[in-house]
Amino acid sequence: MIPYGRQDISQDDIDAVVDVLKSDYLTQGNIVPKFEKSLSDFTNAKYSVVVNSATSALHIACKALEVGPGDMVWTSAITFVASANCALYCGANVDFVDIDSNSYNICIKSLTKKLELARLSGNLPKVLIPVHLSGQSCDMKSIFALSKEYGFAILEDASHAIGGMYADEPVGNCKFSDIAVFSFHPVKIITSGEGGAALTNNPELDKKMRLFASHGITRNTDLMENIPDGAWYYEQISLGSNYRMTEIQAALGLNQMSRIDAFIQKRHEIAKRYNDELKHLPLTLPEQENENYSSFHLYIIRLKLESIKKSHKDIFEELRNEGLGVNLHYIPVYHHPYFKRFGFKKGYCPEAENYYREAISIPIYFSLSDNLQKQAIETISKVLSA
Ligand SMILES: *Cc1c(COP(=O)(O)O)cnc(C)c1O
Repeated sequence: MIPYGRQDISQDDIDAVVDVLKSDYLTQGNIVPKFEKSLSDFTNAKYSVVVNSATSALHIACKALEVGPGDMVWTSAITFVASANCALYCGANVDFVDIDSNSYNICIKSLTKKLELARLSGNLPKVLIPVHLSGQSCDMKSIFALSKEYGFAILEDASHAIGGMYADEPVGNCKFSDIAVFSFHPVKIITSGEGGAALTNNPELDKKMRLFASHGITRNTDLMENIPDGAWYYEQISLGSNYRMTEIQAALGLNQMSRIDAFIQKRHEIAKRYNDELKHLPLTLPEQENENYSSFHLYIIRLKLESIKKSHKDIFEELRNEGLGVNLHYIPVYHHPYFKRFGFKKGYCPEAENYYREAISIPIYFSLSDNLQKQAIETISKVLSA
Protein backbone atom coordinates (compact mmCIF):
# COMPACT_ATOMS: atom_id res chain seq x y z
CA MET A 1 0.00 0.00 0.00
CA ILE A 2 1.31 3.49 -0.90
CA PRO A 3 0.08 5.63 2.02
CA TYR A 4 -1.28 9.17 1.61
CA GLY A 5 1.40 10.41 3.98
CA ARG A 6 4.19 9.15 6.20
CA GLN A 7 7.22 10.30 8.15
CA ASP A 8 10.81 10.26 6.92
CA ILE A 9 13.39 9.30 9.56
CA SER A 10 17.11 9.83 8.75
CA GLN A 11 20.12 8.32 10.52
CA ASP A 12 20.71 11.78 12.04
CA ASP A 13 17.18 11.77 13.46
CA ILE A 14 17.87 8.36 15.05
CA ASP A 15 21.25 9.46 16.41
CA ALA A 16 19.68 12.55 18.01
CA VAL A 17 17.11 10.39 19.81
CA VAL A 18 19.69 7.83 20.94
CA ASP A 19 21.87 10.63 22.35
CA VAL A 20 18.98 11.70 24.57
CA LEU A 21 18.35 8.13 25.72
CA LYS A 22 21.99 7.96 26.89
CA SER A 23 21.82 11.36 28.61
CA ASP A 24 20.69 12.40 32.11
CA TYR A 25 17.33 13.89 31.14
CA LEU A 26 14.49 12.11 29.39
CA THR A 27 12.15 14.98 30.23
CA GLN A 28 12.52 18.61 31.36
CA GLY A 29 16.07 18.96 30.00
CA ASN A 30 17.42 21.48 27.50
CA ILE A 31 16.23 19.92 24.23
CA VAL A 32 12.59 21.08 24.50
CA PRO A 33 13.75 24.72 24.91
CA LYS A 34 16.05 24.26 21.89
CA PHE A 35 13.16 22.89 19.84
CA GLU A 36 11.06 25.86 20.96
CA LYS A 37 13.79 28.28 19.90
CA SER A 38 14.10 26.60 16.50
CA LEU A 39 10.35 27.08 15.93
CA SER A 40 10.54 30.75 16.93
CA ASP A 41 13.60 31.29 14.72
CA PHE A 42 11.89 29.58 11.80
CA THR A 43 8.55 31.44 12.04
CA ASN A 44 9.61 34.73 13.68
CA ALA A 45 6.97 34.24 16.38
CA LYS A 46 8.47 35.50 19.67
CA TYR A 47 7.32 32.60 21.86
CA SER A 48 6.86 28.88 21.21
CA VAL A 49 5.39 26.45 23.73
CA VAL A 50 6.07 22.84 22.78
CA VAL A 51 3.65 20.20 24.13
CA ASN A 52 2.73 16.53 23.61
CA SER A 53 0.23 17.08 20.76
CA ALA A 54 -1.50 19.76 18.70
CA THR A 55 -4.69 18.78 20.52
CA SER A 56 -3.02 19.82 23.80
CA ALA A 57 -1.67 22.97 22.13
CA LEU A 58 -5.21 23.93 21.06
CA HIS A 59 -6.43 23.30 24.62
CA ILE A 60 -3.76 25.48 26.32
CA ALA A 61 -4.37 28.14 23.66
CA CYS A 62 -8.11 28.23 24.42
CA LYS A 63 -7.35 28.32 28.15
CA ALA A 64 -4.92 31.22 27.68
CA LEU A 65 -7.57 33.07 25.64
CA GLU A 66 -9.90 32.50 28.62
CA VAL A 67 -12.47 30.45 26.75
CA GLY A 68 -15.01 29.18 29.27
CA PRO A 69 -18.66 28.28 29.88
CA GLY A 70 -21.04 30.55 28.00
CA ASP A 71 -18.43 31.46 25.37
CA MET A 72 -18.75 30.68 21.69
CA VAL A 73 -15.88 29.38 19.55
CA TRP A 74 -16.13 29.09 15.76
CA THR A 75 -14.07 26.92 13.45
CA SER A 76 -14.19 25.49 9.94
CA ALA A 77 -16.71 22.78 9.08
CA ILE A 78 -13.94 20.87 7.30
CA THR A 79 -11.24 20.07 9.84
CA PHE A 80 -10.07 17.39 12.23
CA VAL A 81 -12.33 17.16 15.29
CA ALA A 82 -9.57 18.49 17.58
CA SER A 83 -10.11 22.03 16.22
CA ALA A 84 -13.61 21.93 17.72
CA ASN A 85 -13.03 19.77 20.81
CA CYS A 86 -10.65 22.30 22.39
CA ALA A 87 -13.61 24.65 22.89
CA LEU A 88 -15.70 21.88 24.46
CA TYR A 89 -12.87 20.96 26.88
CA CYS A 90 -13.21 24.52 28.23
CA GLY A 91 -16.98 24.23 28.64
CA ALA A 92 -17.64 26.59 25.72
CA ASN A 93 -19.96 26.08 22.74
CA VAL A 94 -18.73 25.48 19.23
CA ASP A 95 -20.16 26.48 15.87
CA PHE A 96 -19.01 25.93 12.29
CA VAL A 97 -18.35 28.23 9.35
CA ASP A 98 -18.79 26.94 5.80
CA ILE A 99 -15.79 26.59 3.49
CA ASP A 100 -14.74 28.42 0.34
CA SER A 101 -15.31 26.35 -2.80
CA ASN A 102 -11.79 27.03 -4.16
CA SER A 103 -9.45 26.95 -1.16
CA TYR A 104 -11.57 24.66 1.10
CA ASN A 105 -10.63 27.02 3.94
CA ILE A 106 -13.10 29.15 5.91
CA CYS A 107 -15.20 31.20 3.47
CA ILE A 108 -14.81 34.92 4.20
CA LYS A 109 -18.24 35.74 2.75
CA SER A 110 -19.99 33.11 4.91
CA LEU A 111 -17.98 34.22 7.93
CA THR A 112 -18.92 37.88 7.42
CA LYS A 113 -22.60 37.03 7.05
CA LYS A 114 -22.56 34.77 10.10
CA LEU A 115 -20.85 37.51 12.16
CA GLU A 116 -23.48 40.08 11.14
CA LEU A 117 -26.24 37.72 12.26
CA ALA A 118 -24.41 36.83 15.48
CA ARG A 119 -24.04 40.50 16.35
CA LEU A 120 -27.79 40.95 15.96
CA SER A 121 -28.53 37.98 18.22
CA GLY A 122 -25.79 38.91 20.72
CA ASN A 123 -23.96 35.65 20.19
CA LEU A 124 -20.59 36.68 18.73
CA PRO A 125 -17.67 34.25 19.03
CA LYS A 126 -14.94 34.89 21.58
CA VAL A 127 -12.42 32.97 19.46
CA LEU A 128 -12.26 31.99 15.80
CA ILE A 129 -10.11 28.98 14.86
CA PRO A 130 -9.26 29.19 11.15
CA VAL A 131 -7.69 25.98 9.80
CA HIS A 132 -5.06 26.08 7.03
CA LEU A 133 -6.31 23.01 5.19
CA SER A 134 -3.62 20.97 3.43
CA GLY A 135 -1.06 23.63 4.34
CA GLN A 136 -2.53 26.56 2.42
CA SER A 137 -3.10 29.59 4.66
CA CYS A 138 -6.56 31.06 5.13
CA ASP A 139 -7.14 34.66 4.03
CA MET A 140 -5.68 35.97 7.28
CA LYS A 141 -5.77 39.66 6.33
CA SER A 142 -9.55 39.52 5.90
CA ILE A 143 -10.00 37.45 9.05
CA PHE A 144 -7.81 39.90 10.99
CA ALA A 145 -9.88 42.86 9.74
CA LEU A 146 -13.09 41.08 10.80
CA SER A 147 -11.62 40.34 14.24
CA LYS A 148 -11.11 44.09 14.77
CA GLU A 149 -14.66 44.84 13.68
CA TYR A 150 -16.36 42.10 15.71
CA GLY A 151 -13.93 41.72 18.61
CA PHE A 152 -12.88 38.08 18.56
CA ALA A 153 -9.46 36.47 19.14
CA ILE A 154 -7.80 34.39 16.42
CA LEU A 155 -6.27 30.97 17.06
CA GLU A 156 -4.77 29.52 13.86
CA ASP A 157 -4.92 25.74 13.60
CA ALA A 158 -1.78 25.50 11.46
CA SER A 159 -1.39 21.76 12.14
CA HIS A 160 -0.90 21.20 8.39
CA ALA A 161 1.01 24.33 7.60
CA ILE A 162 4.48 24.57 9.15
CA GLY A 163 6.81 25.47 6.28
CA GLY A 164 4.07 27.30 4.36
CA MET A 165 4.15 31.04 3.65
CA TYR A 166 1.48 33.72 3.64
CA ALA A 167 2.05 37.25 2.30
CA ASP A 168 5.78 36.43 1.96
CA GLU A 169 6.14 35.49 5.62
CA PRO A 170 6.15 32.14 7.44
CA VAL A 171 2.83 30.69 8.57
CA GLY A 172 2.92 30.65 12.38
CA ASN A 173 4.43 34.13 12.79
CA CYS A 174 1.13 35.28 14.37
CA LYS A 175 1.17 38.56 12.46
CA PHE A 176 -2.60 38.21 11.93
CA SER A 177 -3.50 36.10 14.97
CA ASP A 178 -3.08 35.73 18.72
CA ILE A 179 -1.81 32.15 18.69
CA ALA A 180 -0.87 29.59 16.01
CA VAL A 181 -0.69 25.82 16.57
CA PHE A 182 1.44 23.19 14.78
CA SER A 183 1.18 19.37 14.90
CA PHE A 184 4.13 16.98 14.81
CA HIS A 185 2.12 13.79 14.30
CA PRO A 186 4.01 11.46 11.90
CA VAL A 187 1.79 12.25 8.88
CA LYS A 188 2.40 15.99 9.25
CA ILE A 189 5.30 18.02 7.76
CA ILE A 190 7.82 17.29 10.53
CA THR A 191 7.37 14.81 13.35
CA SER A 192 8.34 14.23 16.97
CA GLY A 193 6.32 10.98 17.16
CA GLU A 194 3.48 12.80 18.85
CA GLY A 195 3.77 16.49 19.53
CA GLY A 196 2.55 20.00 18.96
CA ALA A 197 3.37 23.64 19.60
CA ALA A 198 1.54 26.88 20.30
CA LEU A 199 3.23 30.06 19.09
CA THR A 200 2.49 33.67 20.01
CA ASN A 201 4.00 37.15 20.13
CA ASN A 202 2.15 37.97 23.36
CA PRO A 203 4.18 37.39 26.57
CA GLU A 204 1.05 37.05 28.72
CA LEU A 205 -0.40 34.32 26.50
CA ASP A 206 2.98 32.57 26.51
CA LYS A 207 3.07 32.57 30.33
CA LYS A 208 -0.48 31.29 30.65
CA MET A 209 0.03 28.51 28.11
CA ARG A 210 3.24 27.35 29.85
CA LEU A 211 1.49 27.27 33.21
CA PHE A 212 -1.44 25.28 31.91
CA ALA A 213 0.84 22.76 30.15
CA SER A 214 2.60 21.96 33.42
CA HIS A 215 0.06 21.64 36.29
CA GLY A 216 -0.36 25.39 36.80
CA ILE A 217 2.91 25.24 38.75
CA THR A 218 5.51 28.02 38.66
CA ARG A 219 9.07 28.35 39.98
CA ASN A 220 9.22 31.97 38.81
CA THR A 221 9.20 34.15 41.95
CA ASP A 222 7.68 37.06 39.96
CA LEU A 223 4.50 34.99 39.50
CA MET A 224 4.29 33.75 43.11
CA GLU A 225 1.86 34.97 45.73
CA ASN A 226 4.16 34.20 48.69
CA ILE A 227 7.82 34.62 49.48
CA PRO A 228 9.50 31.22 48.86
CA ASP A 229 9.83 29.05 52.02
CA GLY A 230 13.17 27.78 50.69
CA ALA A 231 15.06 26.60 47.63
CA TRP A 232 12.61 23.69 47.13
CA TYR A 233 9.64 26.01 46.85
CA TYR A 234 7.21 26.18 43.94
CA GLU A 235 3.61 27.31 43.74
CA GLN A 236 0.53 26.07 41.98
CA ILE A 237 -1.23 29.27 40.93
CA SER A 238 -3.81 27.90 38.48
CA LEU A 239 -5.28 24.53 37.50
CA GLY A 240 -3.18 22.93 34.77
CA SER A 241 -2.44 19.60 33.20
CA ASN A 242 0.67 17.67 32.24
CA TYR A 243 1.02 18.26 28.51
CA ARG A 244 4.82 18.25 28.43
CA MET A 245 6.78 16.80 25.53
CA THR A 246 9.64 14.42 26.40
CA GLU A 247 13.26 15.18 25.50
CA ILE A 248 13.20 12.04 23.33
CA GLN A 249 10.42 13.49 21.19
CA ALA A 250 11.95 16.97 21.15
CA ALA A 251 15.29 15.60 19.87
CA LEU A 252 13.48 14.06 16.91
CA GLY A 253 11.47 17.24 16.29
CA LEU A 254 14.54 19.47 16.55
CA ASN A 255 16.51 17.38 14.09
CA GLN A 256 13.54 17.25 11.71
CA MET A 257 13.50 21.08 11.73
CA SER A 258 16.96 21.01 10.13
CA ARG A 259 15.38 19.09 7.23
CA ILE A 260 12.18 21.10 6.78
CA ASP A 261 13.24 23.04 3.68
CA ALA A 262 13.99 19.79 1.86
CA PHE A 263 10.65 18.35 3.03
CA ILE A 264 8.67 21.30 1.63
CA GLN A 265 10.61 21.44 -1.62
CA LYS A 266 9.96 17.75 -2.28
CA ARG A 267 6.25 18.15 -1.57
CA HIS A 268 6.11 20.96 -4.13
CA GLU A 269 7.84 18.77 -6.73
CA ILE A 270 5.30 16.01 -6.12
CA ALA A 271 2.40 18.49 -6.32
CA LYS A 272 3.70 19.95 -9.58
CA ARG A 273 3.89 16.52 -11.17
CA TYR A 274 0.33 15.70 -10.09
CA ASN A 275 -0.79 19.09 -11.46
CA ASP A 276 0.77 18.23 -14.85
CA GLU A 277 -0.18 14.58 -15.10
CA LEU A 278 -3.71 14.56 -13.65
CA LYS A 279 -5.03 17.67 -15.39
CA HIS A 280 -6.61 15.77 -18.30
CA LEU A 281 -8.77 13.73 -15.88
CA PRO A 282 -12.27 14.72 -14.66
CA LEU A 283 -10.85 16.17 -11.45
CA THR A 284 -10.56 19.52 -9.71
CA LEU A 285 -6.94 19.89 -8.63
CA PRO A 286 -5.88 22.02 -5.65
CA GLU A 287 -6.04 25.70 -6.54
CA GLN A 288 -3.36 27.94 -5.08
CA GLU A 289 -4.61 31.25 -3.73
CA ASN A 290 -2.82 34.60 -4.04
CA GLU A 291 -0.14 35.37 -1.45
CA ASN A 292 0.11 31.68 -0.56
CA TYR A 293 2.91 29.17 -0.59
CA SER A 294 1.43 25.90 0.69
CA SER A 295 3.34 23.36 2.75
CA PHE A 296 1.39 20.71 0.77
CA HIS A 297 0.69 18.50 3.78
CA LEU A 298 -2.13 17.08 1.63
CA TYR A 299 -2.83 16.86 -2.08
CA ILE A 300 -6.63 16.80 -2.35
CA ILE A 301 -8.38 15.96 -5.61
CA ARG A 302 -12.12 16.47 -6.17
CA LEU A 303 -14.06 14.21 -8.49
CA LYS A 304 -16.12 15.88 -11.23
CA LEU A 305 -18.88 13.38 -10.63
CA GLU A 306 -21.06 14.67 -13.49
CA SER A 307 -18.33 13.43 -15.92
CA ILE A 308 -17.65 10.11 -14.17
CA LYS A 309 -19.80 7.00 -14.27
CA LYS A 310 -18.74 5.68 -10.86
CA SER A 311 -19.58 6.95 -7.41
CA HIS A 312 -17.15 8.66 -5.03
CA LYS A 313 -17.39 5.70 -2.67
CA ASP A 314 -16.63 3.17 -5.44
CA ILE A 315 -13.65 5.15 -6.74
CA PHE A 316 -12.26 5.49 -3.22
CA GLU A 317 -12.59 1.75 -2.63
CA GLU A 318 -11.10 0.84 -6.01
CA LEU A 319 -8.10 3.07 -5.33
CA ARG A 320 -7.59 1.33 -1.98
CA ASN A 321 -7.97 -2.10 -3.60
CA GLU A 322 -5.36 -1.10 -6.19
CA GLY A 323 -2.87 -0.34 -3.39
CA LEU A 324 -3.29 3.43 -3.02
CA GLY A 325 -3.74 4.35 0.63
CA VAL A 326 -6.04 7.27 -0.14
CA ASN A 327 -7.94 9.08 2.60
CA LEU A 328 -10.60 11.75 3.05
CA HIS A 329 -9.80 14.93 4.98
CA TYR A 330 -12.35 15.48 6.48
CA ILE A 331 -15.89 14.43 7.36
CA PRO A 332 -17.74 17.70 8.17
CA VAL A 333 -17.22 17.87 11.94
CA TYR A 334 -20.91 18.36 12.74
CA HIS A 335 -21.81 15.08 10.98
CA HIS A 336 -20.21 13.14 13.84
CA PRO A 337 -22.76 11.71 16.27
CA TYR A 338 -21.13 13.55 19.17
CA PHE A 339 -21.77 16.91 17.50
CA LYS A 340 -25.26 16.08 16.27
CA ARG A 341 -26.42 16.26 19.90
CA PHE A 342 -25.83 20.02 19.79
CA GLY A 343 -28.57 20.27 17.15
CA PHE A 344 -26.54 20.46 13.92
CA LYS A 345 -28.42 19.07 10.92
CA LYS A 346 -27.30 17.78 7.53
CA GLY A 347 -27.22 20.69 5.12
CA TYR A 348 -25.84 23.13 7.71
CA CYS A 349 -22.73 23.99 5.62
CA PRO A 350 -23.57 23.23 1.96
CA GLU A 351 -20.10 23.87 0.49
CA ALA A 352 -18.51 21.62 3.12
CA GLU A 353 -20.98 18.89 2.20
CA ASN A 354 -20.32 19.31 -1.54
CA TYR A 355 -16.62 19.00 -0.79
CA TYR A 356 -17.19 15.89 1.33
CA ARG A 357 -19.04 14.21 -1.57
CA GLU A 358 -16.05 14.63 -3.93
CA ALA A 359 -12.74 14.88 -2.06
CA ILE A 360 -9.93 12.32 -1.91
CA SER A 361 -6.41 12.83 -0.49
CA ILE A 362 -3.77 11.11 -2.65
CA PRO A 363 -0.17 10.22 -1.66
CA ILE A 364 2.24 13.06 -0.93
CA TYR A 365 5.24 12.67 1.37
CA PHE A 366 9.01 13.22 1.33
CA SER A 367 10.08 9.67 0.47
CA LEU A 368 7.48 9.15 -2.29
CA SER A 369 9.80 8.12 -5.15
CA ASP A 370 9.29 9.06 -8.81
CA ASN A 371 8.38 5.44 -9.47
CA LEU A 372 5.81 5.21 -6.71
CA GLN A 373 4.27 8.51 -7.80
CA LYS A 374 4.12 7.22 -11.38
CA GLN A 375 2.32 4.14 -10.05
CA ALA A 376 -0.10 6.37 -8.13
CA ILE A 377 -0.83 8.49 -11.24
CA GLU A 378 -1.39 5.37 -13.38
CA THR A 379 -3.73 3.86 -10.78
CA ILE A 380 -5.81 7.05 -10.54
CA SER A 381 -5.98 7.35 -14.36
CA LYS A 382 -6.99 3.71 -14.69
CA VAL A 383 -9.69 3.82 -12.02
CA LEU A 384 -11.17 7.04 -13.41
CA SER A 385 -11.18 5.94 -17.06
CA ALA A 386 -12.52 2.43 -16.61
C1 LIG B 1 -3.47 16.58 13.10
C2 LIG B 1 -4.41 17.69 13.41
C3 LIG B 1 -4.73 18.09 14.71
C4 LIG B 1 -4.32 17.31 15.92
O1 LIG B 1 -2.97 17.09 15.98
P1 LIG B 1 -2.37 16.08 17.04
O2 LIG B 1 -0.93 16.49 17.11
O3 LIG B 1 -2.55 14.70 16.47
O4 LIG B 1 -3.07 16.26 18.33
C5 LIG B 1 -5.54 19.20 14.89
N1 LIG B 1 -6.02 19.87 13.85
C6 LIG B 1 -5.75 19.52 12.57
C7 LIG B 1 -6.31 20.34 11.45
C8 LIG B 1 -4.95 18.40 12.31
O5 LIG B 1 -4.72 18.03 11.06
